[in-house]
Amino acid sequence: MRVVVVADIHSNLVALEAVLTHAETGGPIDQLWVLGDLVGYGPRPNECISRLKEFQHLAVAGNHDKAAIGQITTADFNPYAAAAASWTAETISPDSSTYLTRLPEVTKDDVFTLVHGTLRDPIWEYLYTEDTAAEHLKRQKTTYSFVGHTHVPMVVHESRSKNPISLARLESGESVALEEERLIINPGSAGQPRDGDPRVCYGVLDTGAATFTQHRIEYDIMETQKQMKAEGLPQYLIERLARGR
Ligand code: ZN
Repeated sequence: MRVVVVADIHSNLVALEAVLTHAETGGPIDQLWVLGDLVGYGPRPNECISRLKEFQHLAVAGNHDKAAIGQITTADFNPYAAAAASWTAETISPDSSTYLTRLPEVTKDDVFTLVHGTLRDPIWEYLYTEDTAAEHLKRQKTTYSFVGHTHVPMVVHESRSKNPISLARLESGESVALEEERLIINPGSAGQPRDGDPRVCYGVLDTGAATFTQHRIEYDIMETQKQMKAEGLPQYLIERLARGR
């Protein structure tokens, strides 16, 4: 099975389309796995959800998804994120709202777990450090898990060596072998990368070959910026897309 793994789309339809086009050049997409924050920040929340629904897919909820449907307040959001969240809440269609309401916080099968933040705190916690990874792994019942939320692509290996947990950035084109040791993978953000590289992030899981491959691709940032401007979204959010921060 060939699975496109994508996180933090954030209503950036142009970025999502770039992912789908790029992924399809490598072969048919059997499933999409979506690691939360489908909406928030960007200009096309309903269109992104409709597009995802065209695929067989699994998705979990992120903090921005919950804010869009009023399940959490935006008191802990920065002012730009809060402004974009109110805009999203006003813009979201009844169908999209129902869809977001039904998203679970965690989903798993026998091998893979999907969650936005961490298994200790699925909605809010950022997995940036080995200590947080250890807490997450204590709660991870499957061999592999996928997380989002930080907007930074990375992989955590758990091994039986002296330093059991190691965290490393995932580079474009890098492949991770799915072997016996447990892993946590973050494919990075499709819609709003924050590691200084504005290109779209996503990954392809090939369950037959037992590999996950990270991709980084160009997209039409100016088109998304134009849409955001037309919708009156905050200038800071428009500009940060080009910086990738
Ligand atoms: Zn996010």
